[in-house]
Amino acid sequence: MREAGHRSVVHVKKLQQASRHLEVIPHDPERGVYLVTSATRPDVYYEVILDPDRPAGRCTCPWAQHGGINCKHVLAALQARYAAQGRLSFWRSPGAARRQHRRLLTGDQLYITLRPRVRRFSKPELNRER
Ligand SMILES: [Zn+2]
Repeated sequence: MREAGHRSVVHVKKLQQASRHLEVIPHDPERGVYLVTSATRPDVYYEVILDPDRPAGRCTCPWAQHGGINCKHVLAALQARYAAQGRLSFWRSPGAARRQHRRLLTGDQLYITLRPRVRRFSKPELNRER
C-alpha cells in the first residue's frame, strides 16, 4: 500500500464499507482518542486521534504511518464520534457530496454528509441507545 493519500480518496466507498465492520472503542473521546481494530487482525488495535475542529484524524496503522490519510480506522472513529447525530457517508468530491442534500462536513481531502438519526418519540426504550 504505497500510493498513500490518493488511493484512500479514490476508494473511499470501499473504505467506508470496510469501516462499518470494525470495532471502535472510545478510549478518550473527549480528546478524540479511539481504538479501532485491524480488519485483518482483530486482536490488533490502532489508535486514532481525531482532530478536534474538523472531521479528520491520524492513525497508527502502517498505511497511515506511510503517509496515507482517511484510512478505514479514521473513518470508523469518525462514525463513532458522530453516531449520536446520525450516519456518515464519505465522498471524494464536494460535488458528489452536495448532491446528497445533507449537512456537509469537510475533512482531509474528504467530503462527508450526515444523515440525521431518525427519532421515534413513541418508544421510551430508545433512551438506551447510546
Ligand atoms: Zn489506520
